[in-house]
Amino acid sequence: NFIETIKEKNPRINAFIEVNREHAIKKAAEIDSRISKDEKVGRLAGLVIGIKSNINVKDFMVSAASKTLENYRGSYDATVIKRIKREDGIIIGMTNMDEFAAGSSTETSYFGVTDNPAAEGRIPGGSSGGSAAAIAAGMCDLTLGSDTGGSIRNPASHCGVYGFKPTYGLVSRQGLLDLAMSFDQIGPLSNDLYGISLLLDVISGYDPKDPTTIKTSGTSLTRPSNKKGSDLTFGIVKEFQEVTDDPIVDIIEDTINLLREEGYNVVELPFKYIDLCLPTYYLINYVEFFSATRKYDGRKYGYKIEDVCGEEVLRRIQIGSYISQKEFSGKYYRRALQARSLIRKEIEKVLKNVDIILGPTVPKLPHKIGTTLKPMEMYSYDILTVIANLAGIPAASMKIGKVKGIPIGLQLQAKPLEDWKIMKAMLEIE
Ligand code: GLN
Repeated sequence: NFIETIKEKNPRINAFIEVNREHAIKKAAEIDSRISKDEKVGRLAGLVIGIKSNINVKDFMVSAASKTLENYRGSYDATVIKRIKREDGIIIGMTNMDEFAAGSSTETSYFGVTDNPAAEGRIPGGSSGGSAAAIAAGMCDLTLGSDTGGSIRNPASHCGVYGFKPTYGLVSRQGLLDLAMSFDQIGPLSNDLYGISLLLDVISGYDPKDPTTIKTSGTSLTRPSNKKGSDLTFGIVKEFQEVTDDPIVDIIEDTINLLREEGYNVVELPFKYIDLCLPTYYLINYVEFFSATRKYDGRKYGYKIEDVCGEEVLRRIQIGSYISQKEFSGKYYRRALQARSLIRKEIEKVLKNVDIILGPTVPKLPHKIGTTLKPMEMYSYDILTVIANLAGIPAASMKIGKVKGIPIGLQLQAKPLEDWKIMKAMLEIE
């Protein structure tokens, strides 16, 4: 029983910052009664789901883990939430995260840090650390996270669960509090592949309320086929391994060797712009985040963001505002957009040769809670995950082993709208 597990473990792990027991029990009873009357129920019937605190759920705490929104409750359901409710998913509560999703460790939450259930005393990763920890601790079936530069995949890797960032535009962002809107995507986390693919299938699809969503045909886009012995081809990139710590590279190589033994074709391909990825990502992130925060001026939500936010959020607002000054007439931002297009073309070039790029999700092990990292050290956790957001391609993380008892994630990246191929690859590698 999830409610018992949450009661027992959440005080220590702090994966949920709000649990709505009554809502969940009422919804479960309603579904039970419909089942007993032989009425039709949705595809998520009976599944218990946690939602990252930056997605609007009516009447729940949508705080983005910031004091800025401490008194705000969701006034409507985001499109993804409407779709979950329509399929009878049971929303149990809101998960912890870095303040406004700006981080990779869940340490910057106004509601305190989340512990990693798979490696106690260490960060769970972030920013969707609560969503990954809730799954790893068995507190619910499924969670939603958001991924701007790795925030679903990074905590999935550190907590040893599945996490999926869809193709940009596959899932509606309506009702998500933006970090950087040209990167943000909502996606699922789960302990099993079926859960990931089911939830992604439910939340994805064109939404007139989010003009960046893509009109796709057919609903089976995200459902893995069961066929083994497929013809998938894999690529590995030396530059990705070079920025990664050795014990992690060893585990990745073991997996690659196994795949080769099973007869898969794995080729090595070059990627030119690894050094450009973090500066490009962060520059665009600062500018877009600055603009997204202008609505938190104290009039509607009670607090002015600059007055109450943490250090990292303030840094982004200040630098974002500086770069956006009209004296620069968009010089830095334009350069970053040019670099972004180079990076996109380069990764697409790699993907022309193979179906899936395999590599590490995060280059380092999660640090112990309480260690202080410099901003650049924190940002360097993201070097392998930001590429998918810069290019808008789908990417996922799955657990493939452990180093010193700490889970290690394998990252899989594919061409835009080939999300299903990643599902298929994970099914075959599992
Ligand atoms: N760590 C990255 C950042 O701080 C990514 C965060 C995210 O994906 N939300 O921007």
